[in-house]
Amino acid sequence: KLFNEVQELKGNIRVYCRVRPFLSGQDKKSTTIDYMGENGELLISNPFKQGKDGHRLFKFNKVFSPFASQAEVFSDIQPLIRSVLDGFNVCIFAYGQTGSGKTYTMSGPSTSKQDWGVNYRALNDLFDISLSRRNAFSYEVGVQMVEIYNEQVRDLLSNDIAQRRLGIWSTSQPNGLVVPDASLHSVKSTSDVLDLMEIGQANRAVGSTALNERSSRSHSILTVHVRGLDLKNGSTSRGCLHLIDLAGSERVEKSEVTGDRLKEAQYINKSLSALGDVIFALSQKSIHVPYRNSKLTQVLQSSLGGQAKTLMFVQINPDVESYSETISTLKFAERVS
Ligand code: ADP
Ligand code: MG
Repeated sequence: KLFNEVQELKGNIRVYCRVRPFLSGQDKKSTTIDYMGENGELLISNPFKQGKDGHRLFKFNKVFSPFASQAEVFSDIQPLIRSVLDGFNVCIFAYGQTGSGKTYTMSGPSTSKQDWGVNYRALNDLFDISLSRRNAFSYEVGVQMVEIYNEQVRDLLSNDIAQRRLGIWSTSQPNGLVVPDASLHSVKSTSDVLDLMEIGQANRAVGSTALNERSSRSHSILTVHVRGLDLKNGSTSRGCLHLIDLAGSERVEKSEVTGDRLKEAQYINKSLSALGDVIFALSQKSIHVPYRNSKLTQVLQSSLGGQAKTLMFVQINPDVESYSETISTLKFAERVS
């Protein structure tokens, strides 16, 4: 309880680390993970250095080991989802290098129920709770899905390709609808959501070489708008949940890439550091929060800061080959937590 209150004081930002298991074919012996503690400690060893200097300790609100199930990961964030029905805005991010499990955490590896990621479980929960409250409240749920690629926002749920490119309004409305032109789809059940997400995923691939390539270089944002009507006194509430699968955070060597690939990398770099700057400013209770430096932070502006709650999943690979990316991911997380 006290711990929660302290967290609230810190500006409603929580950071969870999730360590991906070794995939079949990977050498299980060479890991950088020394220790995962119950209280959110993560000890990383440097494969290039021996002794005391070869270790670094990071601290999170929680660390999920490679054995943590999707259900376990979700059970910890259920209260956050509930608060959306009570009119709060919530952002849940997955951050990490490509292949570290961001999509696994957010969407899951398949649409079978035990594999469901945070997205489906969150929506499923929202419907369950609204059903259990149906004598006292009536809820309307609508979803939007957009992608940000090279600092352009695209509607992933629009049937009309020509209309997919979106502008951002400079004035943010009270509850997160900063992309007012993105199509809003009313949903009544989890299966409605599954259908929409399938469409969104398919639209993500348009015009790109391979789905995987593209999806690792763009941010995808699933936004759930909830409007509640109190049947007793007629008052209404609005809450908003953003579920964000970020572009891969890996650094590319400038010398290795040119042209489009370099441009993409620069855009990703810019937007991820803008996100880090915003969350850092919020955690410091700064008066100036630099929302305007990227499309990502502009789109999420009204749901970052204020009463809004933020949860970041920091995804890491266990293997030694990923050591330097892992350290840079953990440093990003350290700054925002
Ligand atoms: P990212 O979206 O960060 O690029 P993915 O979510 O696609 O990474 O994960 C990369 C691979 O690792 C996929 O094959 C995925 O199924 C697998 N994977 C990731 N996290 C887990 C996990 N917690 N348990 C089992 N497999 C995982
Ligand atoms: Mg992915």
